[in-house]
Amino acid sequence: MQLGITAESLLYIILGILVVDFIFESILDWLNNRNIKKELPGDIAEFYNREKYELALEYQKTNNRFGLLTGTLSFIATLLILAFGGFGWLDNMLRQVTGHEIFLPLLYFFVLYFVSDILTLPIQLYRVFVIENRFGFNTMTPRLFVTDKIKGYLLTIVLGGILGGILIWLIVNIGPDFWIYFLAISILFIILIQLFYSTIILPLFNKLTPLEDGELKSAISDYSKKVDFSLTNIFVIDGSKRSKKANAFFMGFGKKKKVVLYDTLIQNHSQDELVAVLAHEIGHYKKKHIIGGMITSVISVALTLFILSLIVYNETLSLALGGEQLAIHLNLLAFGILYSPISKITGILVNMLSRKNEFAADHYAKSTYSGEALKTALKKLSVDNLSNLYPHPAYVFVHYSHPPLLERLKALG
Ligand SMILES: [Zn+2]
Repeated sequence: MQLGITAESLLYIILGILVVDFIFESILDWLNNRNIKKELPGDIAEFYNREKYELALEYQKTNNRFGLLTGTLSFIATLLILAFGGFGWLDNMLRQVTGHEIFLPLLYFFVLYFVSDILTLPIQLYRVFVIENRFGFNTMTPRLFVTDKIKGYLLTIVLGGILGGILIWLIVNIGPDFWIYFLAISILFIILIQLFYSTIILPLFNKLTPLEDGELKSAISDYSKKVDFSLTNIFVIDGSKRSKKANAFFMGFGKKKKVVLYDTLIQNHSQDELVAVLAHEIGHYKKKHIIGGMITSVISVALTLFILSLIVYNETLSLALGGEQLAIHLNLLAFGILYSPISKITGILVNMLSRKNEFAADHYAKSTYSGEALKTALKKLSVDNLSNLYPHPAYVFVHYSHPPLLERLKALG
């Protein structure tokens, strides 16, 4: 597909998309900020003392201010790099290292990833070791931060190198039909991640242990028999080595399915509440949300790849980013920005579906175990994590994958 516009016009469209998105997000942040209320809703007051609630408000304010600062900085940096053709300049530099049709794009993306990670390192450090520390969440040591970083890089190089290498090879060698081949590979990858994430990738960062024999296990055992879910699929993860925040999640399917409970969750909740949380997670499995999520991912990847196939061979994209010739990596980068309004919409749709699924899993926990126990667990989680009790509905609509606490409590009756 020919775009029929000059590189200069295309650059203005790219800059325009970034500006509109920045304004849109700033309005959402502003609405969300303004929506914070000082008074506590009645049914939560028993879990919050005034002091702790003030702390939660302070936590939200701190995060909002920090987000505004870092978001603005990265917005300005991106605009400047685009306006001065920085992405094209990097392409020219790296062409002196290699002109290989696969290695050049991979090297290009790795340099971008590495440089932007180093530049944002102060931000990452401040978030973990200053903000999270101040509010008593952080348990991560500097040493763990460094080893996480190194493992993250290696994982990105291996997985990104394999997937990115295949994508670029297909684009270069197959022509516009590449998207069908890469869609097949993506589907395989999505399935493999569900099956092997918890046995191969997660253990690189955390320890998963089967639920120990004891009171909790026997309390859970009755429930899991009732809903026909094997106890051998329930695991505990050492989340406490990074943060005091608690969580639980469900992954995989078939023999590889797993409910994972954070050790921090187990420490702070009664057996009744833990069974209710577990029931919610099993609800995700029984209601087939895992398969649904995978199908949604496949549809969204298919749409992205198809649209990519329409414009990826267009030299104008590379020129708009300051390149001197067609470069697949520059085109992929330009596509990433041009496609962002569509991915924002698909992201909103995915969040809508996810919030619907959360209500359904809550309902499952209520009907197979206890709505009251789940309500107490959700309230405790919200208080312990200092969550925002009053997010603005527009902000929730765009960004929340889980419904806000008060809506979930209302739905549980
Ligand atoms: Zn859930």
